[in-house]
Amino acid sequence: MTHIAVDGCLFCQIVAHKVSANVIRETAWTMTFTDISPQAPVHVLVITKDHYANLEDLSGEDPGLLGTLMAEVAVVADDQGLGEDGYRVVINTGEEGGQTVEHVHAHVLGGRAMTWPPG
Ligand code: AMP
Ligand code: ZN
Repeated sequence: MTHIAVDGCLFCQIVAHKVSANVIRETAWTMTFTDISPQAPVHVLVITKDHYANLEDLSGEDPGLLGTLMAEVAVVADDQGLGEDGYRVVINTGEEGGQTVEHVHAHVLGGRAMTWPPG
């Protein structure tokens, strides 16, 4: 299956297997791999295989895929054994949201108690 891809996008390159990642789950529409700089005992990124720069673009252009992404987040969290104790899902969006990779992704963080407010 071909996916919407953008040249030079790191996560598109991971989807295309041109950059390696520790992939732990894959569906037709999503890919999940461990974050290279983990902030919790479990820290994985769930991405859409299609390129959307951020949550704004994804929700505007393919809201159904956003639903698919979030459903996959819950499956991944259960797979990682986080379902009972709980976990945090973060989608940093835009500059003030702290987004550094412009390909929409959900962080799934768990394995320790999270604090609030976030930084
Ligand atoms: P954000 O700052 O929300 O855009 O998140 C980007 C995340 O991607 C950060 O947590 C990085 O540690 C992570 N990251 C960057 N490069 C890689 C990579 N090659 N493999 C896995 N995770 C990465
Ligand atoms: Zn991309």
